[in-house]
Amino acid sequence: MIPLSINCVGRLLVILARGIKVLDYDLHCHSTYSDGTLTPAELVARAAERGVKTMALTDHDELDGLAEAYATAVQHGMNFINGVEISVSWHKYTLHIVGLKIDPSYPPLVAGLRQVRSGRGARAQKMADELAKVGIRGVLEGAYRFTTNPNMIGRTHFARHLVESGQCKDVKSVFNRYLAQGKPGYVPHQWATLSDAIDWIKGSGGIAVLAHPGRYMVGRKSMGSKTMRELLAEFVSCGGQALEVVTGSHTPAQYAEFARYAGEFGLSCSCGSDFHGPNESYRDMGRLPDMPTGCRPVWADWELPPLAELKAA
Ligand SMILES: [Zn+2]
Ligand SMILES: [Zn+2]
Repeated sequence: MIPLSINCVGRLLVILARGIKVLDYDLHCHSTYSDGTLTPAELVARAAERGVKTMALTDHDELDGLAEAYATAVQHGMNFINGVEISVSWHKYTLHIVGLKIDPSYPPLVAGLRQVRSGRGARAQKMADELAKVGIRGVLEGAYRFTTNPNMIGRTHFARHLVESGQCKDVKSVFNRYLAQGKPGYVPHQWATLSDAIDWIKGSGGIAVLAHPGRYMVGRKSMGSKTMRELLAEFVSCGGQALEVVTGSHTPAQYAEFARYAGEFGLSCSCGSDFHGPNESYRDMGRLPDMPTGCRPVWADWELPPLAELKAA
């Protein structure tokens, strides 16, 4: 067996004596248990339809969709990875740490996420108050109508309400005008610490991945290379293991940039669409481009049935 190239969603293209086998990975997406628009079952069915063979559900600070997603993945003959995306406050940035292969019953993880979620209701009220000051009134109720799980109310639900009520043309423009850091409806919030989030993930047997590193900004200013290196050094020293190199919101130049950072800091590389729903996401599931050559995939030593099958071949 000669591995010719390793690419992502992740496609691990391996030439075997009997032909070419392609394995597709999507290790970052959201269901109605956080701010996605599809139920876990609908999401998994969509991924299966679009050729994903191994997927992780990574709802924000929430684990309750995993059982339904797993049951559906089994029906579709897919590998399912238990995941989560934890909100972290790091200096003036809000970061997202994806946990892959976590144990959703690990008590410190369950308790930690409960604590992280508990601030969302109060933050939503403050966001509504701030938006009212710039003339956008009565949005709280509208935003709650877009939640399936009211405990998980977040900016995306406000955005969907503002689009539906005709006040903005799409979710992205709501974020740009009102909800991004520095905009009138942005309310700072204290999420988990970086070391706690990584401890919860690793303590449960999981792998900590720094999600979409190209997206961390304060206002319009993106994180420069000096701060990125400080973050990555701290991430590694806390036990972080992987960097999300290919994600829906990165440009091709950023795939190369973060593949270089991964090499520099000895991190594995992950990939995922960060799909939230049809017509609302940068990328659909099963539609990610290749990971740059030289990346060590985060799944390289996972013992998943199709990989085992390949190894045996
Ligand atoms: Zn995220
Ligand atoms: Zn996400």
